[in-house]
Amino acid sequence: MAIGGLAGAAAWPSRASAQPAKTRLILLGTGGGPRPRAASSASAQAVVVNDQAYVIDCGNGVARQLVSANVPLTSLRHLFITHHHSDHNADYGNLMLLAWASGLKTRIDTWGPPPLEKMTGLFFEMSATDIEARIASEGRVPLVPLVHVHELSQNGLVMQDEHVKVTSALVEHPPMVPSFGFRFDTADRSIVISGDTARSDRVVELAKGADVLVHSAVYVPAVDRLIARVPNATLLRQSIIAGQTSVEDAGRVAQAAGVKTLVLSHLIPPDDPSLTEKMWIDAVRPLFKGTIIVGRDLLEI
Ligand SMILES: [Zn+2]
Repeated sequence: MAIGGLAGAAAWPSRASAQPAKTRLILLGTGGGPRPRAASSASAQAVVVNDQAYVIDCGNGVARQLVSANVPLTSLRHLFITHHHSDHNADYGNLMLLAWASGLKTRIDTWGPPPLEKMTGLFFEMSATDIEARIASEGRVPLVPLVHVHELSQNGLVMQDEHVKVTSALVEHPPMVPSFGFRFDTADRSIVISGDTARSDRVVELAKGADVLVHSAVYVPAVDRLIARVPNATLLRQSIIAGQTSVEDAGRVAQAAGVKTLVLSHLIPPDDPSLTEKMWIDAVRPLFKGTIIVGRDLLEI
């Protein structure tokens, strides 16, 4: 199968196995916003390739969602944070801690905007009592030396290993600067996660020719009902409109990028019973000719 993608992509190392790679995309959390909900978890996705897990965003419950998706926590290898809203990072530290408590003893690399390094250090400081107790009483390898933090400020190549090449785009999600979208190119698939963003030509560029684009989406006519349900957030409406993409624009971005499949996720509102899957699809169908999927938790694509 063709490698989707970026011009000038490096040749893939030959694999010992004759089996082609099978890259899995699992939606772990598909609701927008940090309020815990029965209907959906906060933002997180896993790209699993050759039994290595690359997790994009760590909303509340991400470790449990990985377990529910039958992705072993010990397979966690790289963590990517698009931006530092709590619906994307609340369980960043917890995922590493709980993976380690589940048996992980191998390296984890984490990637995201500043102050990721400080956050990581503070999390380990906060959790030192538990970590030290488990090292002493359970014979675990120390956790802290396993974790290697990489702060991202520029777009472009993030990392590349024998499984995947990851590139980023700076997206527009005020007031969070920088905020990133990420693209994963593997031997058999190209997958783009927009992150939270207003409609952005940088996402179009990042997603050019990709197999799958997971794009955040707002159903604008339903936002006022959401605002009425959320107390203590007088500026929430303008924040959503300024920093997110309408479902129609998500379709336009996907069409301009020429992706095969558009996955609507980080859905806003995330829990409006009067907003059906058909309504999301009907809004985007006239604007995008490819396959449309309305994201739901634990869906594998
Ligand atoms: Zn956000």
